[in-house]
Amino acid sequence: MSETPGTDALQFERADFGSAPSGVQNVVCASCHRPVLQSYYTLGDNILCSACREERERAGDAWGGVRLLRAILAGFGAAVAGAVLWWGVRKLTGYEIGIISIAIGIGVGRAVLWGSRNRGGVAYQLLAVFLTYAAVAGNYMPDVVEAIRDQAKNEKPAATASAAAKAKPVEASAAASAGGLLVALAAIFALAAIAPFMAGASNIIGLLIIAFGLWEAWKINRRRVVEIRGPFAVTHG
Ligand SMILES: [Zn+2]
Repeated sequence: MSETPGTDALQFERADFGSAPSGVQNVVCASCHRPVLQSYYTLGDNILCSACREERERAGDAWGGVRLLRAILAGFGAAVAGAVLWWGVRKLTGYEIGIISIAIGIGVGRAVLWGSRNRGGVAYQLLAVFLTYAAVAGNYMPDVVEAIRDQAKNEKPAATASAAAKAKPVEASAAASAGGLLVALAAIFALAAIAPFMAGASNIIGLLIIAFGLWEAWKINRRRVVEIRGPFAVTHG
């Protein structure tokens, strides 16, 4: 706020230190935490001063890219944590506890919502659903790797040995192996992503629970229209 400090401002400065006489309504902006002297706006349950309201309306769509990036990073973090959790519980208990996928849907959904600064909308809903399913797939990735390794061991131990013997020069193979690693990871991810469907009808309950998790992620990120209302006058006395 840019008003020259008058008697009201001084009064509120003292009020900040807790000496406000009872009866004086102390209106503080939720965004800049400065006292509001004349009029204020509301955004949901929050009070905004007129300067912050203007700033918010200007920034409204200017920072969409930053919000999306935040949502992707936060959602990805939650998805990785969820995948590790589910995989860990599965390894420790030996049970497929599908209900964890609902918790993952809620966790990833909330992380994406946080990243979007509570905005929601179809793009964030799709992102949350994708990341939730990616967490489900991620949880099966170690199993896919194990299965491939077992198969390679059983089928042709000689072939891998001769392939290693024919290895390319170091520099070339480093770049090739980085690219190869990405391709391999993508392939492993794709195999893990279809894993829940491989059991067919016997895993129908597992699939339903996964669907619930995806639904939670979708629901949490519905577009939230929060209206700014005002101006309202600050009442003194
Ligand atoms: Zn403010």
